[in-house]
Amino acid sequence: MENLSVAGTGLSNARVVRQTLLTEVPLNLVFFGPPGAGKGTQADRFAERHGIPKISTGDMLRKAVAEGTRVGVLVRETLQAGALVGDDLIISLVAERLEEPDTMNGFVLDGFPRTIPQAAALDAMLADRGGVRVIALVVHADEVIRRLATRGREDDDAYVIKERLAVYSRETEPVLEFYRRRNAVTILDGNRPMAEVSVAIEAAVGEREGRTA
Ligand code: AMP
Repeated sequence: MENLSVAGTGLSNARVVRQTLLTEVPLNLVFFGPPGAGKGTQADRFAERHGIPKISTGDMLRKAVAEGTRVGVLVRETLQAGALVGDDLIISLVAERLEEPDTMNGFVLDGFPRTIPQAAALDAMLADRGGVRVIALVVHADEVIRRLATRGREDDDAYVIKERLAVYSRETEPVLEFYRRRNAVTILDGNRPMAEVSVAIEAAVGEREGRTA
């Protein structure tokens, strides 16, 4: 077949097709792990490096509480107790956020999905947007407790930490299995220093997406 150039661009068709493919695969990512795994920090760094938004449901809820919005009033006690807010509420918050145009080339979700119904709802939202890949950070339990104890957030006191870890194993860990079954998960060792974990995340995403940058 002839290697035609695309009129006026000076580029060959093959190159244009390749570039289109690369830019059309959105970086839809979920950073997954127990509280204290470092996923929030890693999500921040990754999102900034790639020019895509980080969507943290915990941040959204804490902001709502601080501003005393209707949602904030509804969820305040749930956050303080370390329990999960209702699926319907959190799903509608995320669905609304994913309608924003800044998410169209990709996004990093931090703290969502945390239950199987949330994961199923996310699937539906992304049905025609390429689905998601999950980066799961595995961290030893004693390291998680050490990190949370030094963070100083209102829901980081010893009793609430225990509750949040229990909720994680009961409600959230099954979500990992949900994605593993479809081969959409990369599991990384999150016990390492932050910079090393960042490098491992970049490598994992680059490999899966076939990106060179
Ligand atoms: P995080 O900052 O992700 O640890 O979230 C802080 C708190 O917000 C959690 O302990 C829950 O009370 C609530 N929360 C955040 N994300 C979700 C979610 N996807 N589903 C239910 N509750 C959530």
